Amino acid sequence: PIYLDYAATNPLDREILSKMMMVSTHYGNPSSVHKLGKNAKIRLERARELIADNIFVDPNEIIFTSGATESNNTVLESVSRANKNAHIITTKLEHKSILEKLEQDKNIEVSFVETDSEGLINIDDLKSKIRDNTKLITIHYVNNETGTIQPIKEICEMLRDTGILIHIDAAQALGHVPLDMSKLDVDYMSISGHKIGAPKGIGLLYIKSDSKLNPLIYGGEQERGRRAGTENLIYAHAISVGVRKAVRDFDERRATEQLLKNLFLSELNSLGVPYELNASKNVSPHIINIYLPFVTTDIMLTRLDLKDVYVSGGSACNAGTVQPSHVITDMYDENRANRSIRVSLNYMTTEDEIKKAATIFKEIYESLK
Ligand code: PMP
Repeated sequence: PIYLDYAATNPLDREILSKMMMVSTHYGNPSSVHKLGKNAKIRLERARELIADNIFVDPNEIIFTSGATESNNTVLESVSRANKNAHIITTKLEHKSILEKLEQDKNIEVSFVETDSEGLINIDDLKSKIRDNTKLITIHYVNNETGTIQPIKEICEMLRDTGILIHIDAAQALGHVPLDMSKLDVDYMSISGHKIGAPKGIGLLYIKSDSKLNPLIYGGEQERGRRAGTENLIYAHAISVGVRKAVRDFDERRATEQLLKNLFLSELNSLGVPYELNASKNVSPHIINIYLPFVTTDIMLTRLDLKDVYVSGGSACNAGTVQPSHVITDMYDENRANRSIRVSLNYMTTEDEIKKAATIFKEIYESLK
């Protein structure tokens, strides 16, 4: 099989797995006052420090969550509960964990900032949408369907001294685009473990030290009262190693991904497979979203699946349904969304896999022509 769906999830990294096994013997509850508990607590904080050191933040600014979905929901819930009628600005291209949460919360007024044909936000439009009760801007750093990288730095500069909080969903950013928090003045950031080789079910929320947070989950005083529930030491270590590797190997990974992306597109070109890129300018190297005029998304996915090539029709969260991608529909139209697929790779992908996949694209194109 050729797995080209890394934006949906990644296999468990072997180094991460061995780290998980190593810490698994420390089964004490980090809140217990005996030695076993204290030992677990010390180890939990070591994982947090490793993460903090690698993204240049303070360990107190990091909490462990169950994933980017929970991190995103936590930020929106926090802002909603702190304000009566909070106005939040976002885009229509967000992950469902933002859009659905906003939709559900009747206390939140939402404005959607304009995005261009590449999915990039229009900063002037963002400026014009700010109101007196605007409390938060929430925006993805890298789009999970198109790979488009948003101008977060410019947004932060524009919002400086306005008192408006900024949240970025960086689930697709870590390991693929530079992520140095000392250079980004954001208040909150979400990260997902399974996008960087850790298991599903662990994530991070960065909370700038002077920014408040009302918890989503109440109970014990874990995570300094910001997220209740006995901490998962094993998963905390898993994501810490994932973060460290993503940062340490960043240059190498990025170069590999860029090379593979270019190779895939040049192979399609030389094989004569017609396609158009849905986003091409400011795009992360691990995501390729293409419009295939000769085939619908569901047929293409089925044909590729029969040949054991695994890609996606949009975001994995919509998989299994025939709904066209909300992102491509918003950027173009439903017809184009119905004929687009997302190919996503990572540093583990090989040139051979890319060439084989392109050849299979060619075979499918020939058979449908
Ligand atoms: N945001 C983005 C941009 C994502 O790509 C994903 C994963 N598809 C999520 C949030 C949700 O992450 P998780 O699976 O860790 O809840």
